[in-house]
Amino acid sequence: MPKFVFVTGGVTSSLGKGITAASLGRILAARGLAVASLKMDPYLNVDPGTMSPYQHGEVFVTEDGAETDLDLGHYERFIDRNVTRASNLTTGQIYNSVIAKERRGDYLGATVQVIPHVTNEIKERIHRVAREQQAEIVVVEVGGTVGDIESLPYLEAIRQFRNDVGKQNVLYIHLTLLPRVATGELKTKPTQHSVRDLRAIGIQPDVVIARADEPIDDDLREKIALFCDVKADNVISEPDAWSIYGVPLMLEDAGLGKIVVEELGLSGAREPDLSEWKALTERIRGARIPLTIGLVGKYIELPDAYLSVAEAVRHAAWAAGCDVKVQWIDSEHLERSDDVEPLVGLDGIVVPGGFGYRGIEGKVKASRFGRERRVPTLGLCMGMQCMVIELARTALGTNDANSTEFDAFTPHPVIDLLPEQRDVGDKGGTMRLGSYPCVLEPGSVAARSYGQPIVLERHRHRFEFNNAYRDLLQSHGMRFTGLSPDGRLVEIAEIPDHPFYLGTQYHPEFKSRPNRPHPLFISFIDAAVSFARSNGRAAEAASRLQELPTL
Ligand code: GLN
Repeated sequence: MPKFVFVTGGVTSSLGKGITAASLGRILAARGLAVASLKMDPYLNVDPGTMSPYQHGEVFVTEDGAETDLDLGHYERFIDRNVTRASNLTTGQIYNSVIAKERRGDYLGATVQVIPHVTNEIKERIHRVAREQQAEIVVVEVGGTVGDIESLPYLEAIRQFRNDVGKQNVLYIHLTLLPRVATGELKTKPTQHSVRDLRAIGIQPDVVIARADEPIDDDLREKIALFCDVKADNVISEPDAWSIYGVPLMLEDAGLGKIVVEELGLSGAREPDLSEWKALTERIRGARIPLTIGLVGKYIELPDAYLSVAEAVRHAAWAAGCDVKVQWIDSEHLERSDDVEPLVGLDGIVVPGGFGYRGIEGKVKASRFGRERRVPTLGLCMGMQCMVIELARTALGTNDANSTEFDAFTPHPVIDLLPEQRDVGDKGGTMRLGSYPCVLEPGSVAARSYGQPIVLERHRHRFEFNNAYRDLLQSHGMRFTGLSPDGRLVEIAEIPDHPFYLGTQYHPEFKSRPNRPHPLFISFIDAAVSFARSNGRAAEAASRLQELPTL
C-alpha cells in the first residue's frame, strides 16, 4: 500500500504550495522512494489548455500530451521524474466523468450527488496516480485555499481517504502564512483560523508549514503547536528563499523529510542523498559571469506565462557559470516603435511560443535583429515560426509572407495549418500534443548539441512549416535539420552561417532540469557567452561549459 501526503493551503494563495510540494517530493526521492505527484485544481475547466495565460500562467505539457498546471513543471524539475496525464486533476474532469457514468446508467438509479459520487471519483483518481506511476508515496497538492467553496469536495474526499486506507498511510500538511503587521511582529492568528476551518471539515493537520519573510522562532512554533494541536517539532519554518531551488535543502534541514518518513513508517526510506542538489545550489550561488538573455513575449508583465522557458535558460546558464538575467521584452512595444533599443546589448534572444496575432510583428522584428546582427537566437514553437516568416519576407522582398494563423489570406503561407487539424473544431486538447520523435541531420548544430541522431520532444501546436517554401528558404541559408521520421514535418530550422540561430517547432524547455540542462539551451548559452565575450561584456571568461550530464 503506497503512502499519501496531502498538502493544503491556508490564509492566502501564492505561498508557494507547488514549490513546497515539489521540494517535499525531492527530499523523499533523495531517500530512494518512488514519488508520484498529483495536483488537484478546483476549477471547472477540464484542463488549463483553453485558459488565457493571464488566468493561469504557463500551460505545462507532459510526455503523454496533457495540457496541465504549471506546478507539474515544478514537480518534474524538482523530483526529476516525468509525470503523466494522471498527475493533474480538475473539477471539470471529475464532473465529466461522473456525468458520463450517469448517462451510461452506471449509478443504477441512484441520485447522483457530490458525496459520495464526486468524492469517490476524486478518491479513485488519487489511487490511479499511485497505481500508474508505481509510487511508494504520492504527494497530493490540493489547489486553492482552505475556505474556498470550490475546494470543499476535495477536502471531504481527502478526509474520507484517511479512513479508507488507514491512518498510518496518510499525512496532512497545511501550508500557511504568518503575516507581519505594522508593529513588526509575525502573527499566527490567520493560521489558527485556517487550521480551525480544516478541523471543522474533519481534517487535523499533522504538520504545519509556516511561510514568513524570516525564519520563525521557538515561541511562535510553540504557539502554533498549542493552538493548532500539532507537535512543536512538526511546525516547520519556511522563510522566503534565495532561490526556489534552495527550498528542498531548507525543508530537509528543518526536519520535514524525517517527520514524513517517521509519521508514515516508510520502512523503505534510506538516508537522504541530496549531494546532487547541494552541488546544484552551489553552482547557482557560484555563478559569476554576467549574461543577459532577452525573452521577447507578449505576457511580460506575467513571467509565469514563460516559466519553463526562463527556468531552462537559467539551468543552462548556471551550468556555464553564468549569473544570468532574463530580460523581459514586450513584443507589442517592439512592434509599435521604430527603434530596436530593447534588443541592443543582449547576449542572446529567446523568442518563445504563443498564440494569436497580437505581438507577432515584434517577434518577427526580434528574429530579424538576431539574424542580421548575429546575436545568438533561439526560437521556440511560435518563435521558430517567426524566424521562418522573417526570412521568407526577406527572401521574397515582401511583408506579405505570414502564417495563416495571423493572416488567413496571405499570398505566401509559409506557416500553415497541420493537415490533420483541418477538421478540428474543438479548442480543448486538440492540438498536436506531447512527445513525438525528431530525426536530426548529422553535423547540424542540433545534432551536435544533442549528440544523438533521434530525439523525443514535447509539442503543442496546430501550425507547421509549409514545405512548399523549403527550397526558397534553403537558398537563403536556412537548413531544416530536424524532421519527423517520415521527413514531412519540419521540427528544427537553423542557419548554419550564424553563431547560433535555431528554432524548434517543439518545446525543449519542458524537458530541461536544473541538474540536467537541455542540450539546445546549453548550446544557445554557450554561443551567448562567446558573443558576450566578443563584445567585451563577459570579461570573466567562461573557458568552457562545465561537463554536466545532459538529457
Ligand atoms: N500558435 C502556433 C501554433 O499553433 C504556435 C504554438 C506555440 O507556440 N505553442 O502552431
